[in-house]
This record gives sequence, C-alpha cells and structure tokens, in this order.
Amino acid sequence: MGLLRTTLLVAMVVLVDCQNNCITRINRAGICYEFNSPNFEDCVLKNGFHEQQALAHHCRNAIKFNQLCCPSNSLSPISTNIHGNATTLPISDRSQLTTTNKATSTTAKTELPEEDGFITKPEFKYHHYDDLEAFMRRFSEKYPHLTHMYTIGQSVRGRELWVIEISNNPREHEAGEPEFKYVGNMHGNEVVGREMLLLLIQYLLQGYGTSERLTNLVNTTRIHIMPTMNPDGFEAAIEGTRRGTKGRHNANGYDLNRNFPDQYFENELNRIQEPETLAVMKWSKSFPFVLSANLHGGALVANYPWDNNPQQKSGLYSPCPDDLVFKKLAKSYSTPHPDMPPAVPCNSRGLAFADGITNGAHWYSLNGGMQDWNYLHSNCFEITVEMGCSKYPVTADLPRYWLENKESLLAYMDQVHTGVKGFVLDENNNGISNANISIEGINHNVVSAADGDYWRLLVAGNYNITVQAEGYEPVTKVVDITDFAATQVNFTMKQEEKLDPQTSGTEEITTQAGPKTKVEPKPDDDLNPEIGPNDRLVPKNGTRPKPGTGSNIISNFEFRAV
Ligand SMILES: [Zn+2]
Repeated sequence: MGLLRTTLLVAMVVLVDCQNNCITRINRAGICYEFNSPNFEDCVLKNGFHEQQALAHHCRNAIKFNQLCCPSNSLSPISTNIHGNATTLPISDRSQLTTTNKATSTTAKTELPEEDGFITKPEFKYHHYDDLEAFMRRFSEKYPHLTHMYTIGQSVRGRELWVIEISNNPREHEAGEPEFKYVGNMHGNEVVGREMLLLLIQYLLQGYGTSERLTNLVNTTRIHIMPTMNPDGFEAAIEGTRRGTKGRHNANGYDLNRNFPDQYFENELNRIQEPETLAVMKWSKSFPFVLSANLHGGALVANYPWDNNPQQKSGLYSPCPDDLVFKKLAKSYSTPHPDMPPAVPCNSRGLAFADGITNGAHWYSLNGGMQDWNYLHSNCFEITVEMGCSKYPVTADLPRYWLENKESLLAYMDQVHTGVKGFVLDENNNGISNANISIEGINHNVVSAADGDYWRLLVAGNYNITVQAEGYEPVTKVVDITDFAATQVNFTMKQEEKLDPQTSGTEEITTQAGPKTKVEPKPDDDLNPEIGPNDRLVPKNGTRPKPGTGSNIISNFEFRAV
C-alpha cells in the first residue's frame, strides 16, 4: 500500500508540473522533454518528433524515471562549435529546426538542443532496398569529405551489401586511429538496427562541426556502418511481426548467425559459408577493426562471447579470455538504455537480465555465431545487441527506439578509445606490422596494423604487456590502465642479434635475454582479395579440417568457384 501511495504521489507531482508550460525534464537516458500541455501525453519532445505514440510512451517514461532539470544551455538555440565556444546556429539551419505539435494543433518553434544533432528532420520509416541505397547515397554525396560508400559483396539475390564509412579522412586508414563497425539486420526480420544505423549515419554527419562530441568522435575514429547484412531476408519480412522467423534467413534458407566457422562444432548450418557470411569475413579481415556490434531484435539485452561451450549446453556460462572486457563493453551499451539495466523482460515469461547483459552461452548456446568468429579470427571485439522485444515493430515505434538507443550507440563507440594503444616501432621509428601484443594472464593476443599501430581493449588495472615481432627482441612494459581514455604506450623494438645458424630457420629463436621464445604464428590474413560472385570458401586441400582441433580457421580455406 505504501508503495502504491508513493507511486500515485509521484504521478500527481508530474501531472501538476505538466500543467505549467515549458516545464522541462530529462530522463536517465538523457532524453529531454518540454511539457506544454495539461495533458502530459501531449507534451512536445525537444528534438522535434511529433508522432503521438512516441510522445505518449516517453511522457510515461518521464514518470517512470528519476527526473532532473535539463541543463539550461541544452534548451536554448545556442549551440557549441568544435572548439567548445558558444555559437548561434545559422539562420538557414535554424529555420529547419521547427516542429508542429499535432496533438494540440499548435506549431511549436522548437530549437533543437545542441546535442540532438539532426539538422533536417529524420525520416522515421522503413527503408526497403532501393530506399536504403538512395538514403546512403544521398548522405554520401552530400558529405563527400566525411564519407565513403562501398559494397563488400552481394547477397544471394544480388543485392549489394552496402557500407558507409564515416571519418574526417575517408578512404584511408589514419595511423593510430582505431576502426569501428556496426552491422545491422543480419536476421532479415530483425529490423530495428537497420533503421537505427541509417539514423546514426544522418546524426553523425549532420552533427559534425556542430556538436563537439560528434565532431571529436568522427575526427578520432574510422566508423564503418553496414545497415543490412541480409537485404534479401528483410524484403521477405512483415512489418508488425513481434516474433516469428519469416525473413530471418538469407535467400538460401541459412541463418547467417549460425553460418560462421565455429571453434567447437561443425554442422550443416556452418559447414559451407553463404555469400553474405563470406563477404563479412573478408571485410572483417580487410580493416584493422578494434570494436564492433551486431544489432538484432526480439529481446532486450547486450550479449557477449562465448556463444557456445564444448558441452553445447545452454545455461552454462562460457567465459572467453576477455570476459571482464566484454562485460564492460556490454554494459556500456545497456547502461544508457532506459529499459535494459532495469532488466525489463519482454513478456511475462521472458528473462530479465541483470544489468541488461548476458554471456551468450549462459543465455542459450549457439554454434557458428559471428561475435565468436570475430574474437577468434581478428583483433575485433564484437558484441550482439538485442535492441527490443519486437523484431519488426510498426513504423510509429521507430522514434521511440531511436531515443532509447541513441546514447547507447554513441557510448558503445566511445569504448573503442579505451584500454591501451600506441605504435610498435623499429629503432628508426618505422612502424612494424603484424607484431604480437600479449597481455600476461589473458590468453588472447592482438597484432599491430600496417603502420605498426595497435589497440588493445582492457579494463582498468596494471598489466605486463609484451610485444614480439619476427627479427626483433621482445619488449615487456608494465602499464597502468584506467577505464577511461586509452593509455598511449609505444614499443621500440631492437633488432635481434644474428641468430646461431643451428637455430635459424626454425620456429624457435633464442633472444638476447636468454629464454627460448616461441614465435606466434602469423595471423590468418591470407584471404584472397579477389572473390568472384560464384566463389565459395572451401577447404584448401579438399578435406575439411577436423573441427574442435583448432585447425578450423580461415587460413585453411580458400575461395574457389564451385
Ligand atoms: Zn537475431
């Protein structure tokens, strides 16, 4: 009874507040409201959305969450330029920042707060293939200095797998700058990620030069966004479908998130890779990606490796060597989301996940998933985000999904700038590529990129970091790392003394320091860059390497027409 009374009291306070015009509030996700109607379900969001359903949802959320006053500068027409100085938006831009409150039939000239980013009102609708391509092309052509639109291959039905790169120097890897990717719509009927990524493209590009945060992000990160990995599946899916599998698979009937080579199990679903899977494998190994997320739907949780275990048993926690890092990464997505950390289940029988995160196998075990493959076969750490309970929600719900996920999408990208980073250099300050960076106590190495640059995500702590490169003496440093900005540590490598002819040419080398050091195998980076449309990834010697032996890796496969 006491709880009920408290709840009613809170609701009344909000209702009373809503009777005063222009009472502003911000919820825990940083969403800002302006209440300008006695009916609090008619209030106007500060960012210009006017769909009635979204308004109602978010105004109810305003009751649900702790309420804080908006910072006053976020409500003024004053913006902040990239130097952090206050500046007034140009008239031409400001004229577009108006919205009509359809619920009250009055026109509210609402200036977008600086952090809202959008210059033109976002289109909340589903983009089918032609629309999606046109959308990406439009932004790519409008912002040629910030974008590069490219395709990584084709789907079974011949649709391009489009990617847009966003960077202040597109088309090139800038030495020292980490690369990030978002992949949406791998399951064709899980569509929220697809539309959120299109909105994110607009948001980043229109916010560049206006928002200090977005400008910094784009200046310091090479961002690759693939809104759909399964364009054929999407075309078969049906709007308004909360559950079900129509459109989930690719046009050959394969579940792409069961189709990657698996560390434990080979089966009919992952024995041969589908065109979409192969394209993503090739793409993933063509750029020095550091961090990635794979956006799904049908649940509400951030899921991290491993996705399976040798027992193939669901409910069994299966930690990968970087379990602590992955927990932190998953929390960086779930924490800003208004419904993920409170562990709101999707239905009365649904699971509630503590902190809004879960180990993949602990939830349910699956073979052939993409996130595990990323961790096993590249430098990239990937999580899988289930963005909402409905796989294909109605169009009117899209503004709500954007508001719920916007901060999470950005906060997750920020994680690419944590841990330790730097360069592996020779004595003349030339970068050394393919150097092995190992962390004592964590059985997972990363390798340096073409310029000798490296990035290693870690949680706060004190680490012994060793760098090894062929022909150089190993170097170990003790490094303090915080949970925030990455610690910069360069490693200068000294060439090895000439080897004893007795030992040269073998895998074992003797370093000046004395102990024999095993040279780590080179990363499996021998993908054929020219993959034809009929090529399939097949075992090199005709027989499939035995699964579970560690030989089921991409270097044992080649692309060949079949
Ligand atoms: Zn899915």
